[in-house]
Amino acid sequence: MTEPALRLGDLIDDYCPRCRFLLNHAIASMVEGQVAKVICQTCYSDHAYQHGQGGKKKAGPRATLFDQVLAKVSPAAPAPVAAPPPPKKRAPPPEPPSMKKKVAPPARYISRHKIKPPRRGL
Ligand SMILES: [Zn+2]
Repeated sequence: MTEPALRLGDLIDDYCPRCRFLLNHAIASMVEGQVAKVICQTCYSDHAYQHGQGGKKKAGPRATLFDQVLAKVSPAAPAPVAAPPPPKKRAPPPEPPSMKKKVAPPARYISRHKIKPPRRGL
């Protein structure tokens, strides 16, 4: 069974780099029977047909470094068993803060407005 040939304007699924989702796309151009460009039906941006792939992160340098480290570790050597950490000695409790009662300074009365002296001579 052969798939029906794709034609311009047909809707196909593709990864939209702008929407960052696999969405409906209309075929915008074809080259030798192969889809070349598509138009996202969600954001109407056109881009090269990505065959439904895209948006996947490449194996970064981290992964390769990790592989190098893994390669250095000989597979025959048993994995080192981590010794349990020695029991921690409990540090003596810190000195309690001095229990001297702080004497609070006497309360100050703050008034927002200056108290006007009483008027005289009226
Ligand atoms: Zn889109």
